[in-house]
Amino acid sequence: MPRPILPTAIALLTATTLVVAQPAKKDEKPAVQATVESTLTTDGGKIRQFAFDGKADSYFASAKPPTAADHFTLTFDQPVTVKAVSVTTGQPKGGDELAAGVLEGSADGKAFEQLAKFADGKATASPGKKLLAVRIKVNEEAKAPLVVREFTVDADPAVAVFKYPVEITTDATDAPELKEWFEQVAKVCEKQFPMICDELKADGFTPPTLVRMKLDKNYDGVAYASGTRIVGSVKYFSKHKDDVGAFVHETAHSVQQYRGRGNPGWLVEGVADYVRFFKYEEKKPRPLPAERAKYDGSYRTTAAFLAYLVEKHDKEIVRKLNDAMRKGKYSADLWKEITGKTVEDLGREWQTSLAK
Ligand SMILES: [Zn+2]
Repeated sequence: MPRPILPTAIALLTATTLVVAQPAKKDEKPAVQATVESTLTTDGGKIRQFAFDGKADSYFASAKPPTAADHFTLTFDQPVTVKAVSVTTGQPKGGDELAAGVLEGSADGKAFEQLAKFADGKATASPGKKLLAVRIKVNEEAKAPLVVREFTVDADPAVAVFKYPVEITTDATDAPELKEWFEQVAKVCEKQFPMICDELKADGFTPPTLVRMKLDKNYDGVAYASGTRIVGSVKYFSKHKDDVGAFVHETAHSVQQYRGRGNPGWLVEGVADYVRFFKYEEKKPRPLPAERAKYDGSYRTTAAFLAYLVEKHDKEIVRKLNDAMRKGKYSADLWKEITGKTVEDLGREWQTSLAK
């Protein structure tokens, strides 16, 4: 029998192509989050956050070559002391390395100064000072698209790489007056995406990396999700600009990915509203009056039931229900397997707790 060399080769390859993020030790400050913005249009699925996901094999690519007016900027949620920062450009197998460009840094996100010049597609600097943002600028119009494989940032506190890289695109052609508002909505959902993915995580499941949002002037409902496409009503959101949570709910659907395998609709909506009302909205819902507390009441009613179960029965129950529904393995027996009680009994128990 020949020795199975392939898995070893793959393991070695993986080990050498991964850029390992600094692990957060217990006594260290919590990692700072980041956002990545660019004037450049993304080339299909080669999204911006791939440039800071801790993996050198995934990368951002621009649809067109950059000009001197363009930038690709990584902004931290708060200033951090950057000990070292490096950027690698170009395709993993070679090609499209940035020929003439600079890596810049800024203490306030407005005024930038040069940290290093790109050479052979790489730029490395040791600024040793507080920065809020670092960015790539090109010196002249490039011939190739901008391909950013990875930013590596060694900072205090550490900056977290994108654990669930995503890009949410917006299409407000049907309502140009809502364009800016809609872009802000997408930013909120991108920011909430790691939370949503954590709440709905399961072994072997990789969340989508590209979600497309569109405003539709002919749609009379509020919003809906179909796969990774989200549609919102122009009529509704023209009057309800504060209902950003509706898009967080739809973004949760895009991560649920149950694809209609006969899961109970009230639970599908309940999980999405659990993520929205109990994890995203700052104002937590008030307890329901007992007579209105029906476990299968769908949306925020079922969401409140799930929140009760998370607190009283099993912290992981939403993840377990989600995993089963995603795999098409949901059945009424599941409640008993998880909690030892039927869903009807749990519903009554919840009602009783509210009547007290
Ligand atoms: Zn829904």
